[in-house]
Order: sequence, then C-alpha cells, then structure tokens
Amino acid sequence: MTIREELERREKTYLSPFAVCSADTKGRAYPIAPDDLRTEFQRDRDRILHCKSFRRLKFKTQVFISPEGDHFRTRLTHTLEVAQVARTLARSLNLNEDLTEAIALGHDLGHTPFGHCGERMLDKLAADGFAHNAQSLRMVEVLEGGEGLNLTWEVRDGILHHSGKVQPATLEGKCVARADRIAYINHDIDDALRAGVLKEFELPGEILRILGETHGQRIDTLIRDIVRESEGKNDICMSEVVQNAFDELRNFMFEKVYFDGWRKKEEEKCEYVISMLFHYFMEHPGEMPLEYVQIAYRDGTERAVTDFLACMTDRYALRTFQQLFAPSAFPVI
Ligand code: MG
Repeated sequence: MTIREELERREKTYLSPFAVCSADTKGRAYPIAPDDLRTEFQRDRDRILHCKSFRRLKFKTQVFISPEGDHFRTRLTHTLEVAQVARTLARSLNLNEDLTEAIALGHDLGHTPFGHCGERMLDKLAADGFAHNAQSLRMVEVLEGGEGLNLTWEVRDGILHHSGKVQPATLEGKCVARADRIAYINHDIDDALRAGVLKEFELPGEILRILGETHGQRIDTLIRDIVRESEGKNDICMSEVVQNAFDELRNFMFEKVYFDGWRKKEEEKCEYVISMLFHYFMEHPGEMPLEYVQIAYRDGTERAVTDFLACMTDRYALRTFQQLFAPSAFPVI
C-alpha cells in the first residue's frame, strides 16, 4: 500500500459522512496518474501554492490601496487567514481539510488590482461583465498556461462559488465561503483601526457584546458557533443570534469603511487608471505581453484585455499607467 492509499483509507475511516474523500473526487479535465505520496486534493493545494498568480496576491489590495504600512493586509495575507479559519472549521467538523485548504488558497486568485473597486470598474467596462470568483476559475483553468492547473472538480467548484448566489456543492467549499467573510470583516476592522479610519469606541457595543471585544475573541465566537450549529448536519450553519450580529457588523463595515467618503477620492483615481489602461490596450492589443496577444487571437480582444488587467498587481497597474500616460524626463547623457 502506498502512502497515498493509506491516507485515502484513513479519510474513509475518520471523515464525516458529509465530507468529500479524495478517492471519490469527480476528477480532473485532463486525467493524470495518481501520486504515491499525496492525495488528489493535496496535489491541488500544492499546484495552487506554486503558481504565479498566487505570488501576485502579495501586491494586490485587500481594502487599503497599495498599503505603505507593513502591517496592513494584502490579498495574500487575507488568503492565508481565510485558509486558517476554513481549516479550523473543516477539522472540527471532520471534513476534508486538504480540499478546504486548496479551495481557500485559490479562491481569490482572479482578484483585480485595487480590490473591489478594480472589480467594479472592470465589470462596467467589459461587455460580458466581470466577477472575481469567475475570474479565479479562469485563472486556474486557462490563464496559468497550457492545460491550466488542471485541478479537481471539487476545488474548481469551491473557487467559483465562494461568493455569488450559487452555493458550493461541498461542505468544504461552504466552509471557505464562511471563512472568507469571517476573515475579511474582522481583519478589515483591525486595518481600519490601524489606519485611523475607525475608532475603537465607534464599534457598535451591542454587537461586540455578542461577538467579542477583541479581534481574536470575535473570530473564536464565529468559528465555535458554526461548529456547534453544523455538527452532524449536511450543511454549514450559524445560530440566529450570532448570524444577526455578524450581519449587522458587516452592514456597519459597509457604511463606515467600504463605502465611506474618505475612500471615494482614492477609488475614483483607481477607476480612472483601470479605465485608461482598458481603453489603451483595446486600441493597442499588440502591446500586451505575448500570452495576452495569443488570448486576443483566440477569445477576442476584450477578453484578453480584461484578463491582462485582472492579472495586474496594484504596482504593475500604476507603473504601466505611468509609463503610458505620464511624461518622463529627457535622459541626460
Ligand atoms: Mg476572499
């Protein structure tokens, strides 16, 4: 028996009847020979961790645009926090932790530069619209080159449905969708306090009494509540009291931080950058890197320009904008 076969046997013995065992995966678009050490979901996690778009998350905005401070979250640290919360949920509920981790690490790979403001702008500009979850799937299926990352069906389903109206098909995917919200609401509070956008006393007291006074307490309350409410069920649930408090906290964050006036000015600049780049490359598709020129031939110019922009990091977008639209000094020889 290989190590992988032993791991598969353990999964069958210990995991919840509602978990996905790696031996039961619906498989990959392009079948590959099994590995003797790792299960299929462990391989997917590794494929994601080693891909180029994963490394780019380091320079993509979470909420604070191109943060100068060393302690603000980026898309990469957000992704790691989501993975941590999701794995705790999965392990506590005897679900497949490897599948959960793979989905969590891949869920935001398609995020645009400048966070959700970049996403909204691309959605406006592209005739077919744009959503980061669908783009994350396109990233792992197409944009990583060749046959893409050729991930299993369950990981791709979890990535596509981590946000949006359709729920993920697996409980592991549902854990990631919950973990995503838990992570971002809480770390965005922490970052907003750090930035001085929010003051501690402004946080709604009634909600804090239910969820906890500190960042750690709040995450702990939310995780424990989900574990308690979901044990033995074929679903991932939250109690009504905690769900309501969490929804109110989310509304508070939208009002106070995500859509507040102070961000508007900077966001308008980001929208301008995205829009200028979009129109420029629509007119000059040949100036994009070769891989996007090839996409333009295959899937049309607009698709290629959208992909190119979505793949950019904040700093790459700003640098490109500067090169194209800002005058540079005459070189002195
Ligand atoms: Mg996310």
